[in-house]
Amino acid sequence: MTSTRTPDPRAAGWRFDNSYARLPGALHSRVVPTPAAMPQPVVFNRALAMDLGLDPEALAGEGAAALFVGNQLPEGAEPIAQAYAGHQFGNLARLGDGRAILLGEHLTPSGKRFDIQLKGAGPTPYSRRGDGRAALGPMLSEYLVSEAMHGLGIPTTRSLAVAATGEPVFREEPLRGAVLTRVAASHIRVGTFELFAALGDTESLRHLCDHTLQRHFADRVGFGNPALALLAEVMERQAMLVAHWLRVGFVHGVMNTDNMALGGETIDYGPCAFIDAYDPGAVFSSIDHQGRYAFGAQPRIAGWNLARFAEALLPLVHPEPEQALGLAQEALSGFEERSRWHWLAALRGKLGLHTEEPGDLDLATDLLQGLHRTAADYTHTFRNLRPGPAPASSPWTDPGLAEWHRRWNDRLARQPQSVGEVATRMRANNPAVVPRNHAVEAALQAASGQGDLAPFHRLLEALADPYADAGKPAFLTEPPPPGTPRCRTFCGT
Ligand code: AMP
Ligand code: MG
Repeated sequence: MTSTRTPDPRAAGWRFDNSYARLPGALHSRVVPTPAAMPQPVVFNRALAMDLGLDPEALAGEGAAALFVGNQLPEGAEPIAQAYAGHQFGNLARLGDGRAILLGEHLTPSGKRFDIQLKGAGPTPYSRRGDGRAALGPMLSEYLVSEAMHGLGIPTTRSLAVAATGEPVFREEPLRGAVLTRVAASHIRVGTFELFAALGDTESLRHLCDHTLQRHFADRVGFGNPALALLAEVMERQAMLVAHWLRVGFVHGVMNTDNMALGGETIDYGPCAFIDAYDPGAVFSSIDHQGRYAFGAQPRIAGWNLARFAEALLPLVHPEPEQALGLAQEALSGFEERSRWHWLAALRGKLGLHTEEPGDLDLATDLLQGLHRTAADYTHTFRNLRPGPAPASSPWTDPGLAEWHRRWNDRLARQPQSVGEVATRMRANNPAVVPRNHAVEAALQAASGQGDLAPFHRLLEALADPYADAGKPAFLTEPPPPGTPRCRTFCGT
């Protein structure tokens, strides 16, 4: 006999093991989500649910919205808010999850561990003056862009669902409230370490260090100094992550140390944006007046954040402060080189270079300077770059770029790979589509304004497989139409 009852979303294959909640109490606070008036499903990520070993049928329906806003808890959840600090635009502040509640760590059938977090589920002890809530538009934006980043092959937190609360949130105007279910390797940040370093709580710092190493870099446990091992691994992942961002034109927008996850995932999609015209100085955030987090500044800022991380680790590096400092500085001094190495590797991929020549960085840099000078579209230009004669169209009509194109052809001729092999490598590194700002804005406008989710789903689908040409709408593959207003983004909305 088959049952017609909808399966219970609280028992949809959840398998919680909440190791963070077992850490000493200074690291977190027990909280419960604030019930929402009228939960409504908005989006659900069926593919991700299946990857996590969850039953999509139990989580797709109307009934699951109660779970995705926090009115019902999945079996085994132990909700907490995490304590942390962070350098925001260079200034240290005491923060913590002000509107995010960690339900716990779900283990997938293959034994992978993921944080399941509700963002916008109500106030916590760390909310300060905030309401603990989130508006639908920004939560859909995070869902869309984080899933696009995943499609682009870039480490990122994921989005399992967005559900509306049925309650307004008051920003400049009343907006529909919503909760995002975020899935992450962990939510441990540079700022988590900074909090306990600032408090002089070396005991908590040590627990945190051991936990983070065990969780993200288990193969380094038991070899040498744990703090130095953790620093080295985190540096390497950040160098790689930022090179990915540069490769696809992503501007994170708010690289505060509380928004740098030690597991190496892109996290916090508040004011992020993608560049259209290539411009290392591109800034979209309405509050980043100095361009601290500009597109081209990201590797340097990652280095700055890692220096704050190293400082926080000092008490664990060595009992003698002088020695600790020397060891940390020595480790940090390698970051710039690793950062450049990852970026050069990405550039070789974008240019179809299989071999390595000393002039490759100059070759790539000269192209980027030409793109900047001509305000050429970053994604479109790279995706349409082909060996052979330069096209008689913009930006290649620029004499400098025409000359560059000949140099590039000469360079390709000096490697043994065929034109086909070059094309394959380039297609794998130069996406046909990225979530262009004007397209994201239009989709969010339709969704949160008119309640029309069709443009959102079309965008999501096109971005699921961004390196393929098939089924890509021209409004995503082509630069934005002339006169498209410059996008401005906002934090913490
Ligand atoms: P963000 O800019 O999203 O990285 O947030 C920085 C800090 O502000 C974090 O501690 C957030 O939890 C907190 N925060 C952002 N929005 C809210 C809100 N609506 N209510 C409470 N805390 C918030
Ligand atoms: Mg944040």
